[in-house]
Amino acid sequence: MAKEDTFKKLVAHCKEYGFVFQSSEIYDGLGAVYDYGQLGVELKNNIKKYWWDSMVKLHENVVGLDSAIFMHPTIWKASGHVDAFSDPLIDNKDSKKRYRADVLIEEQLAKIEGKIDKEVAKAQKRFGDSFDEKQFRETNPRVLSNQTKYEELHTRFAKALNDSHLDELKQIIIDQGIVCPVSGSRNWTDVRQFNLMFSTEMGATAEGASKIYLRPETAQGIFVNYLNVQKTGRMKIPFGIAQIGKAFRNEIVARQFIFRMREFEQMEMQFFVRPGTELNWFEKWKETRMKWHKALGFGDENYRFHEHEKLAHYANAAVDIEYKFPFGFKEVEGIHSRTDFDLSQHEEYSGKKIRYFDPDLNESYVPFVVETSIGVDRMFLQVISAAYCEEQLEKDMRVVLKIPPALAPIKFAVLPLVRKDGLPEKAREIISNLKFDFNCQYDEKDSIGKRYRRQDAIGTPFCITVDHQTTEDNTVTIRYRDTMAQKRVAIDKLGNIIGEQVNFKGLFGKI
Ligand code: ATP
Repeated sequence: MAKEDTFKKLVAHCKEYGFVFQSSEIYDGLGAVYDYGQLGVELKNNIKKYWWDSMVKLHENVVGLDSAIFMHPTIWKASGHVDAFSDPLIDNKDSKKRYRADVLIEEQLAKIEGKIDKEVAKAQKRFGDSFDEKQFRETNPRVLSNQTKYEELHTRFAKALNDSHLDELKQIIIDQGIVCPVSGSRNWTDVRQFNLMFSTEMGATAEGASKIYLRPETAQGIFVNYLNVQKTGRMKIPFGIAQIGKAFRNEIVARQFIFRMREFEQMEMQFFVRPGTELNWFEKWKETRMKWHKALGFGDENYRFHEHEKLAHYANAAVDIEYKFPFGFKEVEGIHSRTDFDLSQHEEYSGKKIRYFDPDLNESYVPFVVETSIGVDRMFLQVISAAYCEEQLEKDMRVVLKIPPALAPIKFAVLPLVRKDGLPEKAREIISNLKFDFNCQYDEKDSIGKRYRRQDAIGTPFCITVDHQTTEDNTVTIRYRDTMAQKRVAIDKLGNIIGEQVNFKGLFGKI
């Protein structure tokens, strides 16, 4: 099946089963804003728990914070967002569609990469087991010519971005013959910068009102609370502050479902370190965060690091963790060495000292910061994309979400075989005993096969079937989602069997 088809199906599946809805749908929707339904919110909460616990519970030197979305407007001046938080946009004069100039060029790069991959895949098929990929990549003329094209374009693109050379970005688009996907034309406007922050007014009267921003990242709430937390928590450097919260960006092009939204959620951790040690910590967090992703078991080959073409105004090192979505490798998380930029700026703009007295060095300094920043929604999309499977069975087909059990919205469903003979009562009794420990569902409607399919489709790892034997010997069958294997077990063992599979410990052990 084509990858685009898989993605379309995935989006439809998310809606059909109550994971994600378009915001304001009955009013024809609001662009790039989404609501999470009854199962979506559970999955989202579990993702947040996986992240939060891995940061705050597993590291004794990382603590949490929940800062407000509204903040003093000068914070955004100090952080550089008012002047520099923008993307280069370009319009196609024929279709009147708007694009990010950098994304158009990135897509062109991905196209060239795609051609190389195709060539390699073709050769692999032809040569079978004897295929030496490395040698092929180093010698095949078509691969080499595309590789040169890729490198030349990449170098030119990175330079234009770093110099903020907007005319050059346009020239690249023209030279590469990039066309508008809607009109097919090359009739482009000039490239302009567009600030991504949403603003509103705070205050009752027009004269007294002041312009404030909806935060475009949660990080600044951490920086301005750095001293509060350090002092009250008696934190010693190195230490981190973790936060989960909403962020808002007026994205120029919002496509690909919940991948790029205008209102989204971030999980960010700022790690404060001694100046000069930041690049070691950067490496450490790079590895730790990659392990966190891979622990979910979605296949190591589906992740890669991507170095930034352009460093943000505050960074001295930056890398993205990319996941292979159905539409290609894309960023899910950024790890940035933010230097002392933010804290120093806040010192300057607030006039307050933001220093740390290091008892080991007997001196005060502005700490350096290494940040890990991941979008909850992109992580959600990663989980759903990896989990979605269509399996051909002997007689029919099933759609199953192979969500890691710790993240699954519903841990088990209890299904009485028939709606009589005391079976529903027995099923309800099982639920009453286990509902404080696990999120579970009761379902008695339709045939048992249909009920299994419904639970497969929402990623429930276990189905517990109550039948006539249950009333005699207090045993039930437990059916495993991924293998569909069934086993007879005693009811009083259920808590342990399920608990072992769905707890987070297994995941944490791999980080
Ligand atoms: P992109 O290059 O895709 O615009 P970014 O580099 O601007 O992303 P960061 O500022 O590093 O992103 O934000 C950290 C994380 O927040 C990203 O890795 C992503 O997971 C998430 N994120 C950023 N923008 C959005 C958005 N518009 N919608 C959903 N998630 C987002």
